[in-house]
Amino acid sequence: MIYIGNHVSVAKGFLAMGKEELSLGGTTFAFFTRNPRGGNAKEIVPDDVAALRELLQERNFGKLVAHAPYTMNLCSAKESVLEFSNRVLKEDLQKMENLPGNYFNFHPGSHLGQGFEKAADMIAEALDRVIKPDQKTIVLLETMAGKGTEVGGCFEELREIRDRAAIPEKIGVCLDTCHVWDAGYDIADDLDGVLDEFDRVIGLDHLCAVHLNDSKNTCGSHKDRHEKLGLGQIGLDALLRVVRHPVLQGKPFILETPNDNEGYAKEIACVKAAQEADRGSADEEKL
Ligand SMILES: [Zn+2]
Repeated sequence: MIYIGNHVSVAKGFLAMGKEELSLGGTTFAFFTRNPRGGNAKEIVPDDVAALRELLQERNFGKLVAHAPYTMNLCSAKESVLEFSNRVLKEDLQKMENLPGNYFNFHPGSHLGQGFEKAADMIAEALDRVIKPDQKTIVLLETMAGKGTEVGGCFEELREIRDRAAIPEKIGVCLDTCHVWDAGYDIADDLDGVLDEFDRVIGLDHLCAVHLNDSKNTCGSHKDRHEKLGLGQIGLDALLRVVRHPVLQGKPFILETPNDNEGYAKEIACVKAAQEADRGSADEEKL
């Protein structure tokens, strides 16, 4: 079973997200816990959430990958941004407990000149204030392109944040193919090498989800501009090798490509076909 899907809007409620993803052929999805640029979160309607949970179970969806707003920066130098970011983290994590067993992904942030060491402490402390030992949500640190003063542009920085947190078992990593490529990890020519490196530095046990994107730029460009699968510099063959890689099976793959719903449905079908082809050849081997 491959878990593939895209970002859907929460505007029409929780059940509506599940139905929309089903209509696109998806088996997981991502959603912003509030407007991606910030603002207030949509109120939870218990019946609506219960209906979505039922649908997800009935249709064998994979784990969902909720996404924090981009404006959340737990290592900002600005007091107002910090206040907002800490409030968002607390409120949105509490809300995620209504959908137990899923992921809440966020960009570690930008240190804005304060330096990585200070940023890592700030992020770990912010996580420590809200993560509870009995919570059902795993918080994911996303691999970043290393643009400007962005934190998380190499695996070592993510490990460092995780190591400094009081309850690292509740913290995993979401690997974004566009971001790691832009950060300088050559997943097109050396996917095994990159995954080995991830394993050596962070541990593959902590790789929970994948953001599946092509990149408009070259490896190591530190740009972070997503492209449709196959139209960018990583290329379709390389991205399908990611989808089919044995150590990534069973993880949710989320498309964050610049697409409309028709484009997402096509990409979802393409990823599923690649995986099914593998299953077909495995079955033949057994015969
Ligand atoms: Zn991403």
